[in-house]
Amino acid sequence: MAATIQDLHILFFPFMAPGHIIPTVDLAKLFASRGVKSTILTTPGNAPSIQPSIDQANDSCSLRHPIALSLLPFSAVEAGLPDGCENLVTMNLTNHDMRLKFIKACELLRDPFAGVLRELLPDAVVSDYFLPWTQDAAAAELAVPRLVFHSISLFSLCASHSINSFKVLESVPPGGAESFVLPGLPHRIEMQRSQIRDSSKMPEMAAFFDQCKNSEERSYGVVANSYYELEPDYAEHYRKVVGRRVWNVGPVSLCNRNEIEKSRRGDETSIDCNQCLSWLNTKKPGSVVYVCFGSMYKLPIAQIREIAWGLEALDKPFVLVVRGVRGNDSEWLPEGFEEEVVGRGKGLIIRGWAPQTLILNHEAVGGFVTHCGWNSCMEGVSAGVPMIAWPMFAEQFFNERLIVEVLKVGIGVGVKEYAHFGAERRVVAGEEIRRAVGRVMDGGEEAEEMRRRARKLAEMARRAVEEGGSSYVEVGELIQELIGRKKTAGTE
Ligand code: UDP
Repeated sequence: MAATIQDLHILFFPFMAPGHIIPTVDLAKLFASRGVKSTILTTPGNAPSIQPSIDQANDSCSLRHPIALSLLPFSAVEAGLPDGCENLVTMNLTNHDMRLKFIKACELLRDPFAGVLRELLPDAVVSDYFLPWTQDAAAAELAVPRLVFHSISLFSLCASHSINSFKVLESVPPGGAESFVLPGLPHRIEMQRSQIRDSSKMPEMAAFFDQCKNSEERSYGVVANSYYELEPDYAEHYRKVVGRRVWNVGPVSLCNRNEIEKSRRGDETSIDCNQCLSWLNTKKPGSVVYVCFGSMYKLPIAQIREIAWGLEALDKPFVLVVRGVRGNDSEWLPEGFEEEVVGRGKGLIIRGWAPQTLILNHEAVGGFVTHCGWNSCMEGVSAGVPMIAWPMFAEQFFNERLIVEVLKVGIGVGVKEYAHFGAERRVVAGEEIRRAVGRVMDGGEEAEEMRRRARKLAEMARRAVEEGGSSYVEVGELIQELIGRKKTAGTE
């Protein structure tokens, strides 16, 4: 009998960090909603952050196959990590040696992963870019096609490709403020050397990134959390110049349609979601600034205090998310701030995990101060909220360029220095923060223009995932192609 969608089984395997797990779970939900049998693979320590989202999807929608969770034991101790250290976020990220050990611990999953493949016999594996060894385990040894999941922008992928293929950095000394134009890109993009990672200081990490790139080049193709209309020039460039097959299936976060789904993404929220919504309900549309730096970055106390001063001076309501303070906890806010500003209902401070997509999609929110992690950018874009870009590390400086210069839906706070997770970085002054956020929130012509563009992108995002939209169609095309392979394999 001919293979159909319900015969297709895809195994989704995220890298163990929230910014990778969250969109991969969304991706699995997306494919499951189209009738594909979806299994998510992770380690026991990561299951609690995934299970509620899966349970919710399995309970609420009429899925043909419930989404399954499959577990692999994680050998943290064997790799030299503390027991139970199964997610990048649970480690001391300032320690470079620990990060390398984490990568080694992931590599130890290779044999158990091959065992799962033999047992489940999926038709395809969608695994994270940072799990390069899944390519050989799946494709080379068991002839299962591996698709790389990128939760980063096509713009960043093209920018990295430009820097690597034109060997741009060889002629620009590391660390300096010298600027250069990225050759061959559809737009004229200028960056400073200080905004790009200096790989010469981390040769093992550079070798790992090479391994990831090499494995991606040999993969069946790429699934990207983007949508064609967001970065069409880069979707074309990535296909034609970089030379990858790519399916743009995002924004994946839009598969979470109701409040419960939005509040169950990632960790358990540190605030009661109803309390959060009630607070937002008391604010005027577009008046609230939402400040969140993703799942990994811990703000130093000196920086939190400057943010607090900046927000107080701006005199707009705000939601500030603070995940783990670095420094002496008792002095983390300016004196009197908690009583006078927060106590009077002007601000809401969430210490821990915020229901980000729930907040961003509330009509009261009018600006998003973000570290430019790609999930956050996509969630800001999908909600139609202009952004204040405050990049820190990874590919975040590329995302800033996309948001500010190409899409023109935000402005930069003015940070020019790439600094790894826990590395010392310049403290951005409260006045700089007030000025940058003010430009997005002041209701002037520039701000309104940004807001109009942001709303338009959000509308395009919504259409992209609806039946007949570009992402909907690309998901369908990938499914059909994988079914086609199954048929061919069946007739061989
Ligand atoms: N997130 C959240 N609540 C928080 C912090 C983060 O829901 O308090 C989610 C956010 O919505 C996004 C992800 O965690 O989906 C963070 O991914 P991103 O790529 O933005 O940054 P990273 O954490 O990888 O630096």
